[in-house]
Parts: sequence; structure tokens; C-alpha cells
Amino acid sequence: MKNRVIGIMGAMPEEIEGVVALLSNCTQTTIGKRTYFSGQINEIETVVVFSRWGKVAAATTVTTLIHKFNITELLFTGVAGAINAELKIGDIVLGKRLIQHDMDARPLMPRFEIPLLSKTYLETDVSYLSIASNAIKALLETKSLHTVIGEQDLIEFNISQPRLFVGDIASGDQFFSKNEQKQHLISQLPNILCVEMEGAAVAQVCYEYKIPFSIIRTISDVADDHAHLDFPSFIKKISSTYAAQIIKNIFSAI
Ligand code: SAH
Repeated sequence: MKNRVIGIMGAMPEEIEGVVALLSNCTQTTIGKRTYFSGQINEIETVVVFSRWGKVAAATTVTTLIHKFNITELLFTGVAGAINAELKIGDIVLGKRLIQHDMDARPLMPRFEIPLLSKTYLETDVSYLSIASNAIKALLETKSLHTVIGEQDLIEFNISQPRLFVGDIASGDQFFSKNEQKQHLISQLPNILCVEMEGAAVAQVCYEYKIPFSIIRTISDVADDHAHLDFPSFIKKISSTYAAQIIKNIFSAI
């Protein structure tokens, strides 16, 4: 059996700082503008890296994790814009299926279908889905959240009781900061919970290499005209804490 090596990608440098701090015996390797931090969490070999932004960047990063670091599974944490109206800033979305909303190879294949894979949605392994969802629920129980995030920060972002949503995430090379973009996506893919720029690309590579993956996103904005304003301070104060805490909870369950 192959040795277990878990790859952790974070879509924000601030997020991976907290996760890197969990590594013991940490060493660094720089390849192609990316720094890979290797070590152990709870004695499991782990490699942590900033994905960089967009589908190409993230696909390249996960491919290096697979080839150079021999990862056997992948966890991705990052922020996302809400598409479904029920989602609020601070909620967490766990991807059940990932889709590339900018994939369009018509008339060769149907809209959204990934060429040569005959697939439109990339699915998360069910056992990973349940481990990740338990880890996130443990964080979101009010008490645990208040011990890791200050009361003042929760008030600032109007976060009262964040919830976990499990469902479809759309990824593409677009930052959603206009209401029209959001409405257009909803008209094409009404089931989407949130939008981001890396998840479905990472999922495609993992699918092709048979690496189980989990894509976990904290809602940082509601993908509208204020999206760019909501998120720098959110990332610093909330999502980086969430990421480290979720990873901790996942590692204590595996
Ligand atoms: N913080 C950077 C920009 C990050 S790029 C800056 O201000 O320069 C956006 C990152 O946030 C990507 O990882 C993307 O996946 C995620 N994201 C958050 N909200 C998003 C939105 N509304 N649309 C698309 N991606 C979003």
C-alpha cells in the first residue's frame, strides 16, 4: 500500500499560514513560484501550499503535489462568493459536485462538459464528504467558534450562527463582482451554491489521478457589486482561522 500523504491547498496565503503552523518538522521546497511546506500533522505526512488563483494555477499546483510529493489525498480550503440566496457571509460550503462554469466546447460537446472525460460534474468521494462535514460541524457549534474567533470580529461581519451547506460549487476564471454575472450563472445553473476560481480544476486533476479530494469554501462575499470590498479583512480575521480549525478537526477524525 502507498504511504499516506495528505496535500492541503489554500486559496489564500493568509489561510495557509495557520495550517503551516500545524506542521511539525516543517521543511520548504520552492518549485515554479510555489513554496511547498512538508511535515506531519498528527504524525501523518502532509504537504501544504498556496494554490495561487485561477484554474490553470491551481491545476498546476495540485499536479506538482501529485508528482513531486506523492500525495494520496487532497484537501482544499478557500473563500467563495455566495450564489444561492440562503447563504450568508461566514457560512461554509462543502463541495459535493464541482463544475467548470466557463467550460464551453459546443458544438463538439454539450455546454459545461469537460472534453475527453464525458463528465460535467466532478464528485467528491462520499467517505471524505462525511469526514469533512463532521469536522466543519464541530467548528460551527457556537461554542467552538467563539473560542477561536473574537466576539468583535463576529459582530463586524454580522456572523451569528454560520451554517454548513453541502452541494454544488462552480469554478471559473472570473471574479464575480457584478449582479448581472451572478444572475446569468443562476439562469444557467440554478443549483449552484457558490462560485470560486479553483475547485473544479483541482477536482478534475484529482479525478484523473484517482486522488480523493474535498473542496471546502467559506463564504466571503455574496458575489455582487460589493464582492471586492467584503473580503480582504474577512480573510485575515475569519477564513484563515476557519481553515486551520477545520484542518485540525479533519486530522483528528482520520
Ligand atoms: N484577495 C485577492 C484576490 C483573490 S482572487 C486580492 O484582493 O487581490 C479571488 C479568490 O477568492 C479566489 O481564490 C476565488 O476562488 C475566491 N473568490 C472569493 N469570492 C469570489 C467571487 N465573488 N468570485 C470568484 N471567486 C471568488
